[in-house]
Amino acid sequence: MSLRIYNTAARRKEDFTPREPGKVALYVCGPTVYNYIHIGNARTFLSFDVIRRYLQWRGFEVTFVQNITDIDDKIINRAAEEGKAPAEIAAFYTKAFIDEMHALGVEDPTLRPRATESIGDMIALIERLIKRGHAYESGGDVYFAVRSWPGYGQLSGRALDELQSGARVEVSELKRDPLDFTLWKAAKPGEPFWDSPWGQGRPGWHIECSAMSERDLGLPIDIHGGGGDLIFPHHENERAQAEAATGTTFVNYWMHGGMLNINDEKMSKSLGNFLLLHEVLEHYEPAVLRLLMLQTHYRSPLDFSDARLEEAKAALERLRGFVSLVEWRISFAANPDKGVPLSQATEAARAKFTLEMDDDFNTAGALAALFELMRATNVWLDAHQGELGEDECANLAEVAATMCELLGVLGIDLIAGGSGSDQRADEDEQAQSLLVQRTEARAAKDWARADALRDELDKLGYVIEDTPQGPRLVRT
Ligand code: AMP
Ligand code: ZN
Repeated sequence: MSLRIYNTAARRKEDFTPREPGKVALYVCGPTVYNYIHIGNARTFLSFDVIRRYLQWRGFEVTFVQNITDIDDKIINRAAEEGKAPAEIAAFYTKAFIDEMHALGVEDPTLRPRATESIGDMIALIERLIKRGHAYESGGDVYFAVRSWPGYGQLSGRALDELQSGARVEVSELKRDPLDFTLWKAAKPGEPFWDSPWGQGRPGWHIECSAMSERDLGLPIDIHGGGGDLIFPHHENERAQAEAATGTTFVNYWMHGGMLNINDEKMSKSLGNFLLLHEVLEHYEPAVLRLLMLQTHYRSPLDFSDARLEEAKAALERLRGFVSLVEWRISFAANPDKGVPLSQATEAARAKFTLEMDDDFNTAGALAALFELMRATNVWLDAHQGELGEDECANLAEVAATMCELLGVLGIDLIAGGSGSDQRADEDEQAQSLLVQRTEARAAKDWARADALRDELDKLGYVIEDTPQGPRLVRT
């Protein structure tokens, strides 16, 4: 089975063929650093983290570039509000973004170019566009001449006439045509600027991604991604700039993620349902957020709610409890060989996981395969209460290892749980010591103390399960 990817440009799933066998050039638009990122942004970055991890797990060598937009109107406005320099605001939120990506377990890109460090490449690209007749200077600004490039509108499936009548088109006296968009803006007093052939100014937003993709990955790149809100105008414009300047294809596969909504409403500051990533991570460990998000296919809208967070938390607890139960049973291995019935379940889970992920990265189906493995193994464990044979234990170890490996492909680490994991390890240790004390109290027939210890464990969030192999702690 080959890997299939839904390509926004083709509007269907296509077999994935990289430009160079075994290698993938991936570009995902990064954040504009004027604030902490919200959980919608986090969803998109998480989706592409999993896509990248899966490609790597499947044997591809992935070169992943993600830009940081560190000069933009929003940054300038924020700086003015706070009485700071735009560079200071950008540096602060760039660091916050990287720290939060680490907290979420998102792997670093291969390269993380900054817009302000790439101005020369953007100017060179704009000069090529002017030379080829696709851009013009006007009053210190430079605009892309949309009607000069026949492919415009193909990515987003919009006709020029429809765009022309659209309310979103900005009207300006300097533009020859209302459809034209900015490549370079003349500096206004007090704003940051760079010298250019058109005077002092700064780049428009779209040009950086075209310039960086070409410089850092070479064209055509294999996969270009972002949230669905970027298709128009951002990606339509990126494509126009790159293809009009070079005459070659810019991107082979365009991938766009669905939007995250909160309680079925679009997230927005005015609706008061705006959640920042760090606010969620203060209360939930990253694996919970991943599990919640990956239960929805990356292209579907994702409905976020407190109830779903609690469900994901419980599901993560079940997975952890399962692996610890398997380890517990393995620790009572007896010698005689008793057959190998579980290897089929492990193989089936692995095959279904790959099949689902190969089908345009269906993480929801992939997770279902893992929960199915858990169910099948639990049923088997229930039916095999006594001591297990060596082969059975080897099979069980394979189940646990497969579970951890495949969850790891999704970035869900059952052992090192990210933030909160130290606390968790401390609690486990404390609970284990209480259990030992309780066993001693029972042996000494001190029932009152044994009950008190059970209550203490209950308060810590553990119950004692009596098994044929002895008492065992389970987190609730
Ligand atoms: P921005 O900094 O606004 O360019 O956004 C960074 C990334 O987050 C882009 O890929 C956007 O498409 C994505 N994004 C913004 N809002 C949402 C949302 N509500 N749900 C999912 N992705 C989003
Ligand atoms: Zn971009």
